Amino acid sequence: MRLWKNKLVMTKEQESSFFQKTHITTRKYFWSAILFILIFQIYNILYALHYTDFKLHTKASRVYMALYIIMFFMCIAFSAAGLMLSLFKKQSSLFLGLYTAFGCFLLLWSVCISLYDHRLSNNMSIFMTAIIYIAGLFYMSPRITIPVFTFCEVFFISGLLWISANGNRDTYGSCVNSVGLTIVALFISLYRWSTLRQDFLNHLELEEKSRMITEQSEKLSYLANHDPLTGLWNRNYLQEWTEKFFTSHNTGKVAVFIADIDYFKQYNDTFGHIAGDECLKSVAFALLESGTIVFRFGGEEFLCLYPNASENEADKLAMYLCTQIQKLQIPSSTPEGIVTISIGFAIASMKDDLEFRDLLHKADKALYQAKSNGRNRAIRYGMEKFPIMPTSN
Ligand code: GH3
Ligand code: MG
Ligand code: MG
Repeated sequence: MRLWKNKLVMTKEQESSFFQKTHITTRKYFWSAILFILIFQIYNILYALHYTDFKLHTKASRVYMALYIIMFFMCIAFSAAGLMLSLFKKQSSLFLGLYTAFGCFLLLWSVCISLYDHRLSNNMSIFMTAIIYIAGLFYMSPRITIPVFTFCEVFFISGLLWISANGNRDTYGSCVNSVGLTIVALFISLYRWSTLRQDFLNHLELEEKSRMITEQSEKLSYLANHDPLTGLWNRNYLQEWTEKFFTSHNTGKVAVFIADIDYFKQYNDTFGHIAGDECLKSVAFALLESGTIVFRFGGEEFLCLYPNASENEADKLAMYLCTQIQKLQIPSSTPEGIVTISIGFAIASMKDDLEFRDLLHKADKALYQAKSNGRNRAIRYGMEKFPIMPTSN
């Protein structure tokens, strides 16, 4: 019992979201039950009036009428309370409380009417319908159903025994039937309570697992496409990017820049690898700020792509990139005294991977020229004689 109970234990937050969900599904049972019982009471009242020619001259007709009227007004009162809760309060636990209270009242009322029926016959159909309906459709915890069902059963049996003793009627059959019925109803109610909770917990577990899988796959895809040091896209993503670019039928020219930090080995040797990493991050950030699409291409090499550019714009951009790195003023032991970059770039329209590779090759050649012509400059492929120098601060 303890093990079974522990399996269905929920945290406070789980309990409140479970109430929220259960309250939505049980609401429709509440309203349909109220509506059905209300209409049934109107019918009963009219029938009793018609049956007695509006005189209600017998004691039985007056008792039944009183029971019908009580139920009629209780239905109105519960409807009004339910309506208020739906309109003004969003607390699902309150609604479930109201729903439970209505169930308990309905059960007690059905016991009273069935007991009164037993003066003349062993008819317990109302009690039977009510208890099975409540057990099968209401969400009630065993802490409520066990005492309430037991109380109603004890009350019913006591009434039957009293009728048996005072009314000279044999009610033994009804006693046995009602005990069996109450046990069955308790099982149905317990089963519904536990399956509703278990389903909810299973649903939460599935949600959590799927959330974890999504999170993991997002992490993996991030790791697969990004450089862990600078956070820039890596070479792996470059392939994906170019494929997307080709399928989007982009017809304009693309400027391809390869930027390489000058004397970076020397920088590492002088300041250490950790400082080297920090320098890489600063350079990466500065390149990103240019608005180009930046990839970490290799160790201290970056690839910047700028679609829909003209030669003039590409030249300006190359100068801007060199200037921005110079402006970082990262001290180094090179002839310039600060960290600089060299850029080789090429510009053309590209429709497939072959053309892209050709552009890369040209940019790489231009970079080689920039390095061998003195570094800290940018060279457009085919324009070796016109290096682009960064503007001084
Ligand atoms: P050049 O001006 O001709 O480009 O000379 P260089 O020293 O920059 O070029 P080289 O290819 O000789 O050296 C590149 C250096 O970049 C060597 C390597 O230790 C360093 N490097 C590559 N990746 C990383 C990294 O992730 N962190 C650090 N700190 N250094 C790196
Ligand atoms: Mg290099
Ligand atoms: Mg270098």
